[in-house]
Amino acid sequence: MRIEMPYEAEWIINKIRERGYEAFAVGGCVRDVLLGRTPEDWDVTTSAMPEEVKAIFGKTVDTGLQHGTVTIIKNRRGYEVTTYRIDGEYHDGRHPDSVEFTRSLTEDLKRRDFTINAMAYSHETGIVDEFDGMTDLKNGIIRCVGCAHDRFTEDALRILRAIRFAAQLDFSIEDETYKAISDIAPNLAKVSKERIQVELTKLLLSDHPEKMAMVFETGIAAYVTEGFADIFKREAQSGGDCCAEFAEKFGRIGALPREKSLRWAAFLRFLAPEQAVKILKGLKLDNETIGNVKAMLDVFGDPPKPEKASVRRVLSRTTESQFEGGLCLRELENDSSVPRIRELWEQIRDAGDCLSLKELAVGGSDLIALGMKPGKEIGETLNALLEMVLEKPELNDREKLLSVVMRGPADIR
Ligand code: ATP
Ligand code: MG
Repeated sequence: MRIEMPYEAEWIINKIRERGYEAFAVGGCVRDVLLGRTPEDWDVTTSAMPEEVKAIFGKTVDTGLQHGTVTIIKNRRGYEVTTYRIDGEYHDGRHPDSVEFTRSLTEDLKRRDFTINAMAYSHETGIVDEFDGMTDLKNGIIRCVGCAHDRFTEDALRILRAIRFAAQLDFSIEDETYKAISDIAPNLAKVSKERIQVELTKLLLSDHPEKMAMVFETGIAAYVTEGFADIFKREAQSGGDCCAEFAEKFGRIGALPREKSLRWAAFLRFLAPEQAVKILKGLKLDNETIGNVKAMLDVFGDPPKPEKASVRRVLSRTTESQFEGGLCLRELENDSSVPRIRELWEQIRDAGDCLSLKELAVGGSDLIALGMKPGKEIGETLNALLEMVLEKPELNDREKLLSVVMRGPADIR
């Protein structure tokens, strides 16, 4: 079978082979091409030692030299070339104590996590598939290379990778692999929160975020981060299976736009916003995402009434995309007032109504010119004017607002 590769990957592989070493495209790119998906990046595995790789190419970056990875820059894109390696003992359940380079492709494929990720390809050899990854790929199965129990014990992150790939590819997890996930779940406590978060985010952004159910079904949830297990608790008396119950609450997340904050918010929407924030902080999500999720959950928990002033008031506290996100969450609950709210929002936008202090027709300097002392009072007055304008947008006029201020605070409120 011949696989089409980008020119740059072909060029790299050929240059290494010309020097007498072996080189293959490997892992995710081979898997994705065989599935008819477009690979994100093309990784190369080679028998050449890192120094040998560096000697072949002029421009290289030492990205992970201790793990044997050299990045080749070609046409302004980076391609990772990694020397065949055998991972040493894992004592911390996270990283091998050492890595050993080898000249054997088989050894390198053996260290990889799943059969579908352990295939290599070159034009000369075709697909190298020593663990029957092709069959698993055809049947839609995630299966560890070798003994699942051992592989998860070496590196507990693989537990979440298994579920994440199942969600991205709509695959099922082979029985032995699935059982091992439950057994080794407590080891997840040793994995860094950032790495856990990256996998969970990929899972939520996949086509099948409802497969998050497995995180709860397998008992992993307790080891993800504090409070995570509270996101979904099975009804005590329910006899049905966990996944069905989960799908009922979270099944529609996959229909939402593929947006990080929105999908996290949808997943956390049954928690109080503060609880959600705590989980996201625990997982080391970036502040921007946390802020967006919080704002969306606030809209979700306290949505506007289908009246213009109410819509404007909520909009004054959010960005447009946060507001949109909040409405999407309401739609998940079949809130029938959402279409009307969207209509009003459209009208508000068309009218260009003032929604923030920035758009208010007067500013701090206008109040100072009226004799107000710089300080707290100015902020309070501007906020009170904004409240008024959110109620009656036609009042957003410099003359009108200044006359209100001159008449005194009683008139503002
Ligand atoms: P994607 O890039 O879409 O997340 P991928 O399969 O390319 O998927 P990467 O994390 O980029 O995943 O890793 C590249 C390859 O390295 C994998 O296909 C797999 O063969 C191997 N690999 C990555 N992480 C591990 C791990 N924790 N344990 C064993 N092998 C791994
Ligand atoms: Mg990859």
